[in-house]
Amino acid sequence: MAQRSVVIGLDGVSWRILDPLIENGHMPRLASMREKGAWGLLESTVPTYTPPAWTSAITGVNPGRHGIYGFIEGHAQNERRELVHSGRIEAPTIWEMARAQGVRSGIYNVPLTYPPRELDGWMISGMMTPGWGERQRGFASWDKGSSDLEARILKWAPDYSVDMSADWERDWRDAALAQRALDVLQQRHTVLERLIELDPVDLLFTVIETPDRLQHVYYRYLDPADPLYGSKAGEELRPQVVRCYEAMDRIVGLLDDFATDGGAIVCSDHGFTAWESSAHTNTLLQQWGYLKLKAGARLMQTSAARKAVPLAKRVLPAKVAREAKNRTFAAVDWEKTRAFASPIPQQGVFVNLKGRERFGAVEPADLPSLKAEIKRKFEELRGPDGLPVTDRVHLSEEVFKGEALDGAPDLLPVMRDHRFELDDELFHKEPFTDYGHLPRGVHHPDGVVVVRGPGVGRTSELRGSVMDVTPTMLYLGDLAIPEGLDGSLLKEAFDRDALASRPPRSTAPPTSGPRDETSPYSEDEEKQIEESLRGLGYL
Ligand SMILES: [Zn+2]
Repeated sequence: MAQRSVVIGLDGVSWRILDPLIENGHMPRLASMREKGAWGLLESTVPTYTPPAWTSAITGVNPGRHGIYGFIEGHAQNERRELVHSGRIEAPTIWEMARAQGVRSGIYNVPLTYPPRELDGWMISGMMTPGWGERQRGFASWDKGSSDLEARILKWAPDYSVDMSADWERDWRDAALAQRALDVLQQRHTVLERLIELDPVDLLFTVIETPDRLQHVYYRYLDPADPLYGSKAGEELRPQVVRCYEAMDRIVGLLDDFATDGGAIVCSDHGFTAWESSAHTNTLLQQWGYLKLKAGARLMQTSAARKAVPLAKRVLPAKVAREAKNRTFAAVDWEKTRAFASPIPQQGVFVNLKGRERFGAVEPADLPSLKAEIKRKFEELRGPDGLPVTDRVHLSEEVFKGEALDGAPDLLPVMRDHRFELDDELFHKEPFTDYGHLPRGVHHPDGVVVVRGPGVGRTSELRGSVMDVTPTMLYLGDLAIPEGLDGSLLKEAFDRDALASRPPRSTAPPTSGPRDETSPYSEDEEKQIEESLRGLGYL
C-alpha cells in the first residue's frame, strides 16, 4: 500500500543561509521539520548546476547516465547549439518508477520538464519552459485533460510565471527582484494549494526556483559570515529578501501538511557561496599553449576588441551577445588547439579530440596523457594573490559513469571552494577577474536535506547525494526501489527498528516512456530562454 510522499525542492539553498533564518524565527515550519526529523548535507552533482543536479534528483543516477550537463548542448565548435529539454533525459524518471507500481504523481516546476511528459497524474513544467510574461500554453500535462488543467491554472493565477528571471548584472542594486520573487512565490503557493486539492496524488515532487535567483543576486547580504552582510546595503535590502524565505516556509508548511500521514523531504539541488572571481579558462589554456589563435587574430586582441564582448554582454540582447562571442571563437585556430573551455554551467575543459569534436585535432591515443598534463597545470596554478588556487581537478572518468557521455567535459577543475567560477570567454589579458566587491553568489556542492516521516529518526548528521532523493522518496512512499540506481536510500535517516520492520524492497528498473529528442522550441522561444539564462550569467 502506497503512502503519500512529498519532495519540497528549494533550488540552491544552503544551511549557511537557512541556519540564521531559522534561528531568527523566519522559517518556523522548516525548523519544526528539522526538529522532528533527520537532516544534514546533500551533495550536488559534478558539475554543480541546476540541470544535471535536479535531473539526478528525479532519476537517481549520475549525469553519465541521464546525459544532462548544462542548459545548452554543444560548445564553441558547434554551429548550432540546442537548448536542452525533457526529451533529452536518457534515464527513467521518478514518475515512471511510480507509474510502474500503480502510483500517480504530481510533478511541479522541476527544471527541464518542458515539454511536460505524459504521465499518470499531473506535471507543470519549470525552468526552460518558454513564454513567461505572456499567455502560457503547453506547460501542463494531466491524465484527466492537459488543456483543462492549464485553463484552471491560468484562472487561479492569471499571470502565471513558469520561471522567474533575474539579471545578475543589475538586480543586486535594489530590492525589485525580491519584490518580484515574492509575487512569484505567492503564485506558486496558490497554484500548489489548488493542485493538491484538485488531484491529491500520492507522490508529489516540487521545486521552488526563487532561492537560486535571490542568491545569485544577493548572496553576501544573506550569509552572516560574509563582510557584506553587515554593510549598509546589506542591512537595507536583507529584510525584503527575508520576506521571500518566509513565503517559502509557508509553502514548506502547505506541503508538509499535505504529507501529514506520509513522509516529506526538503532538499536542494546544490548550495551557494560568495562569488569571488571569474577564472577565464581559455586565457589560461592559451597561456599554457593548448589553445592557439589564428595569426590575424592578434588584431582582434586590441583593447577595443577585448572590451567588445563584455560590453555586448551588458547592453545587447542575448542573441547578439552570443553572436559576438561566436565571432570571437572564429579567431581560434582549431587545427592547432588541443583543449578549450566548456560553457559556464559545465565548469570544465574539453580536449579537442579527433572523431568527437567537429574540428578535432588530438589523437585519441594522446587523450590520457594530455588530460594528466592539463590537470597538473591547473594544480600548479596560482591565484591573483599568488597562492595555489585549484582545490582539485575532476577527470570525466572519475565523475561520470555511463553511456550518456556526449557533452561531458574531460576535466572539471574546482577553485577556492567554488568561489571562483570558470567561464569560456576569449581575449582576457589576465586569467582572473575579481568580483569580490559585489554581493552576488555562485553554486556550491553542499546542498541541504531534511527527512520527516514514519520511521524517521532524529539526527543532524545526515550525509547524502542528490541522487539519493529518488530512492528515499520511493521508500517513504512505501514503493519498491528500482535496481541499479547510483543513489541509494538514506538509511541513516531511519530508526534501525523501523528499517528492520519495513526493509526496502527492490524492483526491476522501469522502461522509459516515449520521449522526443527533437527541440520543442521555436526560434523566438529559444531567444527568450537564452535571455533568461544570460540574466543568470550562464551565457
Ligand atoms: Zn539550482
